[in-house]
Amino acid sequence: MKQILFLLILVASVSSVSAQTNSVKAPAKTVVNNPTSQIINAKQLLRDDETLSADDMQGRGIGTPGGAKAREYVVARFKEAGLKPLNNSYLQAFDFTNRSNEKVNGTNVIGYFAGKNNPEKYIVVTAHYDHLGIRKGEIYNGADDDASGVAALFALANYFKEKRPSHSIIFVAFDGEESGLRGSNAFVATPPVKKESIVLNVNMDMVAHNDKNELYASGTYHYPALKPPLETIAKSAKVKLLIGHDRPEQKSDDWTNQSDHFAFHQAKIPFIYFGVEDHKDYHKPTDDFVNINKEFYVRAVETILDAVKTFDKNLPSIEKSN
Ligand SMILES: [Zn+2]
Repeated sequence: MKQILFLLILVASVSSVSAQTNSVKAPAKTVVNNPTSQIINAKQLLRDDETLSADDMQGRGIGTPGGAKAREYVVARFKEAGLKPLNNSYLQAFDFTNRSNEKVNGTNVIGYFAGKNNPEKYIVVTAHYDHLGIRKGEIYNGADDDASGVAALFALANYFKEKRPSHSIIFVAFDGEESGLRGSNAFVATPPVKKESIVLNVNMDMVAHNDKNELYASGTYHYPALKPPLETIAKSAKVKLLIGHDRPEQKSDDWTNQSDHFAFHQAKIPFIYFGVEDHKDYHKPTDDFVNINKEFYVRAVETILDAVKTFDKNLPSIEKSN
């Protein structure tokens, strides 16, 4: 345990020094500083990820007390960000029958901001708050999968609280992703707004853990008009923004059906999915807050925010080409 901590401190100090090559060397005590951001509240982002992936959330399994506790936290953070409920509720309940023939109840959390110029058109930004729960006595905390995407939802919502978007933006924290994209399927089957008014899904699932500073944007193979704006964003991004993992010939490396964006894709709603390649802690009890790459995470969320802002501004041209 100590060794791991020491390694982390070492990594953190190396990255903070390389980020400020022109400045005077920081004294040894301050090298473990967490990353800061001019655009989002980095401290809050990390705190939210840490809270959602703490042991007392019990791995956020669907239909468990830990899942309910996580959901309460999501609702509270949505309210703090000023997100409004749709149809008088932040909650969308659904159920399904699992492999053991038991009925399972799930609940999505939904909030939105009305757009300034195109309030009738909706961009839906998503992440899943459920994870694997407790298995064989071990808690699967899912700090990257997908506490990172949910904490990013809050960061994005807080940005748009101050700077109202042109289109309406719906933020959804899905339940039941790990049980087979259950929450996103329920959302698309009975959307809170007309399905035809949803113009884009931006899905985030695992955006906090990559040792090579690589973030993928996936989906432009299906929706090529979304590629040029992402290429422009990649040029100024502080992460290596790569485009791909969306071609059928890539087999299991084609991520088209591997997270909640697939429900939107099946309904012919364009999507962009942001995520990282699988890592050593993927679907393991070690997917903990201490193992995410904090600097990478903050820069990844800044990059995704840049993408959402760009799509919000330029959506008409995206629609035309589809
Ligand atoms: Zn996931």
